[in-house]
Amino acid sequence: MTLQHDPMVAMANARHEFGEHGGVNLSIEASTTFTVLAAQTMPQIFQGEHGPFSVDAGSDTGGCYLYGRHFNPTVFAFGRLLAAMERTEAAYATASGMGAIAATLMQLCDAGGRIVASHTIYGGTFALLKEFLPKKTGVETTFVSISDFTAVESALQETNAKALYIESIANPTLEIADIPKLAAIAHRHGAILVVDNTFSPMLLTPTMHGADIVVHSATKFISGGSDIIAGVVCASRNFISEMMDLHTGALMLLGPTMDPKVAHELTLRLPHLGLRMREHGRRALEFARRLANMDVEVVYPGLTNHPQHALCERLFNEGYGFGGILTIDLVDASRANAFMEMLQNEHSFGFMAVSLGYFETLMSCSGSSTSSELSEEERRAAGVRPGLVRMSVGVTGSLGQRWRQLEEAVRRVLFA
Ligand SMILES: *Cc1c(COP(=O)(O)O)cnc(C)c1O
Repeated sequence: MTLQHDPMVAMANARHEFGEHGGVNLSIEASTTFTVLAAQTMPQIFQGEHGPFSVDAGSDTGGCYLYGRHFNPTVFAFGRLLAAMERTEAAYATASGMGAIAATLMQLCDAGGRIVASHTIYGGTFALLKEFLPKKTGVETTFVSISDFTAVESALQETNAKALYIESIANPTLEIADIPKLAAIAHRHGAILVVDNTFSPMLLTPTMHGADIVVHSATKFISGGSDIIAGVVCASRNFISEMMDLHTGALMLLGPTMDPKVAHELTLRLPHLGLRMREHGRRALEFARRLANMDVEVVYPGLTNHPQHALCERLFNEGYGFGGILTIDLVDASRANAFMEMLQNEHSFGFMAVSLGYFETLMSCSGSSTSSELSEEERRAAGVRPGLVRMSVGVTGSLGQRWRQLEEAVRRVLFA
C-alpha cells in the first residue's frame, strides 16, 4: 500500500486566514513596507532574529515584516497553501514560473556548478540552462533522456552535478518521469531532485516520491484564467529561507517577487483547482479514447496504451485523473495548421495559442512554437514531430458539443 496524499484535503487544512474585518477571504496586505512598534525590533529583523517563519513557528514575534520584496503576508498565505498541496515545509511565490525556476537553480548552483536536466523540458527552461546560465554564471547543464537511467546516472557521476532537473510530465511528449527511480539515482550522487510540476498540480505530488524541490508555473492550471503570470517554489523551510537571505538569496536579490494582489487573486482559485483538474482530465480522457478509436495517433497518459500508464497509476494521487493535456499527430505541419484553424475559426472549439491550463481549449503546434528553442536535431531527439498538436483541453461547453467539433475537424483533415 503506497502512501496517500490528497492535496485538496491538505490545502483545506492549511487554510486558516480570515480577512482583516472578519471577511471570509483573506485581506490583501498591499504595503511594500512595514512598521514596528519598537525601534529596537528593526535591527533584530535585519539580523534575522525575527524572520518570515516566526509566525509558522508559533513564536509571538510574528508580524515582524520588513519589506515587500522579502516577505509579504498575503504572498506568504498563498505560499502556505501551495506548500500544503506539494507537501513541503514552505513555499515562496514568484512573479513567473521562470522566476521560480531561475531563482531555484541559481540558489542551488555556485559559479561553475553543474546540472543534469531532462532534454524534454519547457523551451524557456531549456534556453536558461543551455544559453543563459553557462554564459552568465558558468553553470553548465548536461541534457539526458530521463527514461535512460544509465545515462542519468553516468551524467550525475561524471559532472558531480548539484541538481537533477526534470518535469513530471514532459512537454510535448507527455512522457512521465519515474520520480522514485530518479530521486534514488540523484540522492545516490548527492544531487537535489528539482521537479517542474506545472502540468500536474493535484494529480501528482512529486515529494511523495522522493523529489526535494517542486517548482510551478502558476500561470497555467493553478491560475486557470490565462490572465496572470506567476510561479512558485515549494521546498524545505531551510531552502526557502536561504532564497530569502538578505545577502545571498536569489529571491531577495534578483527580485522575482509575486505581487500581493496577484497572490490574493490566485488564493481564490485554489479551492476549485481540484475540481478543475478533474474536469480537464475527464474530458481529455474521453477525447483521447474516442480519437484512438478513430485510429488517430493520440498520446494521453490516461490511455492504457500510453507507455507509462502503469507508472501513472502508481504515482498519481487518487481521484484527479490524468491531466488536461493530450497530443494529436496530424502527420505534417500543414495539416496541423488546417486542423487548428478549422477548430478555432469555424467551430470556436478553442484558441490557437501557446500555454495551457486555461478554461478554454488551447492548441499549438509544438515544433513551430513552444519547442522552437530546440534545434531540429534536438526536436527529433525529444520526439517533437512536425505535425504534433498539443491540446490543453478546456472545460467550457459540453463534452458532447466539443467532441462533435473535434471529430469533424479530424475527419476533414485526416480522412477527407
Ligand atoms: C509555462 C511554463 C513555464 C514558465 O512559466 P512562466 O509562468 O511562463 O514563466 C515553466 N515550465 C513549464 C512546464 C511551463 O509550462
